[in-house]
Amino acid sequence: MPGLPATIISMNMTTESFDALSLFSGGLDSILATKLLQSHGHRVLGLHFVSPFFGKPEKKDFWESEYGIPVEVIDVGQEFVDLMAALPPHGFGKVLNPCVDCKILMLRRAKELLPAYGAKFIISGEVLGQRPMSQRADTLNIIRNDADVRDVLLRPLSAGVLQPTPMEESGLVDRSKLPSLVGRGRKGQYDLARTLGVTTIPTQAGGCRLGERESARRYWPILRAFPRPLAHYFDLANVGRQLWRDGGHWLAMGREHKDNEKLLKLVRPEHYVFVLKNFPGPHAVGCPVPGRDWPEDILAAAAACLASFSPKARRSEGEVEVAVTRFGQERIIAVRPDAPHGFSDNATWPETRAQQKEWEKSLGR
Ligand code: SF4
Repeated sequence: MPGLPATIISMNMTTESFDALSLFSGGLDSILATKLLQSHGHRVLGLHFVSPFFGKPEKKDFWESEYGIPVEVIDVGQEFVDLMAALPPHGFGKVLNPCVDCKILMLRRAKELLPAYGAKFIISGEVLGQRPMSQRADTLNIIRNDADVRDVLLRPLSAGVLQPTPMEESGLVDRSKLPSLVGRGRKGQYDLARTLGVTTIPTQAGGCRLGERESARRYWPILRAFPRPLAHYFDLANVGRQLWRDGGHWLAMGREHKDNEKLLKLVRPEHYVFVLKNFPGPHAVGCPVPGRDWPEDILAAAAACLASFSPKARRSEGEVEVAVTRFGQERIIAVRPDAPHGFSDNATWPETRAQQKEWEKSLGR
């Protein structure tokens, strides 16, 4: 299909054409906005954006069969990380969530995709006044203007209380059939769901990790340490415990067997992989920061750190062996599990928030 950016990751990309593209998170509002337009006879494709921070691409088949909504999965991971690393122009919300810029990014991408699907407009499930940061009236206008979608964006759930869009003015969409949902209450959505025959209501939680303090603590040191953080670093950060030494040496370590398996799937040749020999225990992945080498003392410290999390290795009261693999080469390091190693947990949330504010200030925000 011509004109599609290379970051679309859906394996079975549709070649159908559509009237509208919908920002489809899989939450109730995005389902209702899409179903509503479908019920008026419009062919709508759901665009489900994914990154290490949000997205459930594994639910594509479920959404298609349960709601009859065709869904395309779009990976915006690196674009999103670049946005975070440069400090989002509209700032962060209560945690590390750049909701306004996130919406702008998704809408811009949706607009780029319109010609590829022969679609004429974009819909989103935003509801006026529902969220404090991104769904106030002034913010909705900022999002629409900054994403440059003034002429093609329809917010059907609140259409009755928003200015008519060109799609409504031209008669392409029947404004008289669009609701006027406003505010944080959910009754209007539940009523609409009944009307549209939507019986499976997804849970409220949107599942965006950027709004969780624990996740923000994991992501923050990566944003500060790497000159250009890559999206896959944040996949590592989503697993197990995160340990840093002097802000330049990072270990992602499994807490349980499942984490070890996940970590091993994320390993790249340039990573250091630490595995205890002869004892059960966690695995760890060291992801090098450019300009910060891993000399012998750091490797030994990381190996000791790993061993310290194995009760059986600790009880052995002697040196234990740790296999360290990088670029396919394995070597063995002998360490005492009780040796000082200097790796520690990430900063607390208040410390992280204070550093975030300081960073914003240093950039004149
Ligand atoms: S909660 Fe996350 S996914 Fe939702 S708008 Fe904010 S940053 Fe984007």
